[in-house]
Amino acid sequence: MQLTDHFHLSEFTASETAERRGIDNTPSAEIIEALRRTAQGLERIRTLLGRPIHVTSGYRCLELNRAVGSKDTSQHLLGEAADFICPQYGTPRVVAERIAKKLVSLGVDQLILEFASKGGGWVHVSFSSKPRHATLTIDASGTRAGIV
Ligand SMILES: [Zn+2]
Repeated sequence: MQLTDHFHLSEFTASETAERRGIDNTPSAEIIEALRRTAQGLERIRTLLGRPIHVTSGYRCLELNRAVGSKDTSQHLLGEAADFICPQYGTPRVVAERIAKKLVSLGVDQLILEFASKGGGWVHVSFSSKPRHATLTIDASGTRAGIV
């Protein structure tokens, strides 16, 4: 199912962990509607960056979310969040710094730069009906406010 011009539902449900463990990560109709809003947000980010976005994790059912060590309160459970990289634009840090300047116009709820040391990591972004326009950095040394 195509969600928007550049994003397909399968990009948000694919998971190596789910496959390996035989977890059924099929979203409900309600979750699919949330994923469509997330994809629309990612379209705005794609336009800002001018490069394709590669979603590494989108929707996660409770079993999958626990399997990857995430909290039960994660917006991934609701279809409101996506982790992604955009290597053609830059490192996750460069991408997050660019998005951080446009949180309001992009309608971003929460932007998190995750585990971006040593050239790895990803950008987590969420969208909700009441966006908080918040930024966080999470890595081995903990969680800090802002993209730092
Ligand atoms: Zn995430």
